[in-house]
Amino acid sequence: MRIFLSYVAISVLSNVLFAADRPNILYIMSDDHAAHAVSAYGSRLAQIAPTPNIDRLANEGALFTNAFCTNSICSPSRACVLTGQYDHVNGAFDLDGRVPPGRQMLAIQMKQAGYQTAMVGKWHLKDEPADFDYYCVLPGQGEYHNPEFRVRGEKPWGKNLIRFDGMHVTDAITDISIRWLKEQRNPAQPFFLMHHFKAPHDYFDNAIRYEDYLRNVDIPEPDTLWKRSPKFGSIATRGANDELIPHIGTSIGSRNPRRSYLRDLPRMYPAEFPPNYDPGNYSDEQNTRLAYNAYLRKFLRCVKGIDDNLGRLFAHLEQTGLMDNTVIIYTGDQGFMLGEHDYQDKRWMYEESQRMPFLVRYPKTIRAGQRFDAIIENVDYGPTMLDFAGAEIPSTVQGRSFKTLLESGTEPGDWKQEAYYRYWMHMAHHDNPGHMGIRTKTHKLIYFYGCNYDGGYQTPPGWELYDLIHDPHETQNIYDDPANAEIAGKLKQRLADLRNRVGDDGSHFPACEKIVQEFWDYDDTDRRRAVEISHEYLARRQEELKAGKNSPRTWRGATP
Ligand code: CA
Repeated sequence: MRIFLSYVAISVLSNVLFAADRPNILYIMSDDHAAHAVSAYGSRLAQIAPTPNIDRLANEGALFTNAFCTNSICSPSRACVLTGQYDHVNGAFDLDGRVPPGRQMLAIQMKQAGYQTAMVGKWHLKDEPADFDYYCVLPGQGEYHNPEFRVRGEKPWGKNLIRFDGMHVTDAITDISIRWLKEQRNPAQPFFLMHHFKAPHDYFDNAIRYEDYLRNVDIPEPDTLWKRSPKFGSIATRGANDELIPHIGTSIGSRNPRRSYLRDLPRMYPAEFPPNYDPGNYSDEQNTRLAYNAYLRKFLRCVKGIDDNLGRLFAHLEQTGLMDNTVIIYTGDQGFMLGEHDYQDKRWMYEESQRMPFLVRYPKTIRAGQRFDAIIENVDYGPTMLDFAGAEIPSTVQGRSFKTLLESGTEPGDWKQEAYYRYWMHMAHHDNPGHMGIRTKTHKLIYFYGCNYDGGYQTPPGWELYDLIHDPHETQNIYDDPANAEIAGKLKQRLADLRNRVGDDGSHFPACEKIVQEFWDYDDTDRRRAVEISHEYLARRQEELKAGKNSPRTWRGATP
């Protein structure tokens, strides 16, 4: 017993001593902040809505152009980061996903390696973040104004609350992190801090001081907001003879009769619309433009709040001498459709939603100004941070560290050449069918199998293939073009192999997998059946609309 205790004492002591040489790790993640709303990525928004503090990480460090989430929605993406596993392995398939204490891998490994750990801001994984030394997290989505946070305390999890009256959530989260750094950080240990903003998640509510930001600016629009290329999408997203275009994917303008920004935003943000606004007095195009501008202005005001607060956080790190011995990462939990293809929200495997911003600064070993096109996935972030910390990466982790890539500037010869994607929440909230796919540096193959966990509530199955070199905005689905039969076939095989490799073997929801397999080869019988399913779905949706029914839990089917 005594020998064991002294072994523990020595290993704790050596961890602490060893820890003094290791970097702090600050992982900053906002919610729904798409890469094309970070000016370092140079999109249409870069000039009008710059993000200088976030950009600084890229200017003085590295930026990834092919960073992808494996399931574009909040809780599942957070679970991937925390566990280093894909969602069919960590079990957080959808918004009901959770990562209970004892399985919060990143916190556990960091602590074991001698790090002081803290989790601040949006958590969204239901159970207590008990594996962190310190936490101060929003309940669920949390509030934008006068936010409450859950902390550790006498009462059971969830009942110990602190409230920030009169404050905006982005300011409060930054205050909490700075206060933790000032008052609770143990200088004898390196720290691992997860600093998670709630913003700019919908419905966007900026701090009052930003109310005039971009007030008189016409926000540049994506071409695809107006012109839906006849070759964009498939029967899965358009229906037979385009009959489902109004019903798949929530819209900016009036396209989707159930849910659109044109329907919601005039009520929520009247100041963004003309006085006494009545959409009946405007053309379709004018209405869409008004809704789009209201949407983007509110979103970008929230982004501005994040960037300003990061300026404040970085200033604190500089004043305390921590800036240069801290690995600082900035990312969002997924991307976001900012009007592309007249879509709102995330969930899609389309570029703007699948891509995550990923910027990292650590001047001691990462050369400034690098841009990488290596494919990285959110399951790789955890092992990379553990690698920087000199911590053990458990064998249960599916992702892989890209520390070598960051430090050498070269993609390792055996690095992955594809990203896996799967969105499970069939037709929930934003009318997106269940789908899966593979994304390489040059192509994307998407399979909309279109059913819930029980194989029910079917939407027409369909396949989409995009050539990202010649068509980076995904306007031409070339799956059915005979000239692409070979590449489509090869990618389909790679997708099947990739599913095997990541362990998405269909055993989680066998009835769903049956549909996946049924339409995999997509022969003439399957295509005829897809047309029938389209008609059936249209009839069902029209009934639902008549009954004023929203079906946000469609993805579950009868599964409890
Ligand atoms: Ca999110």
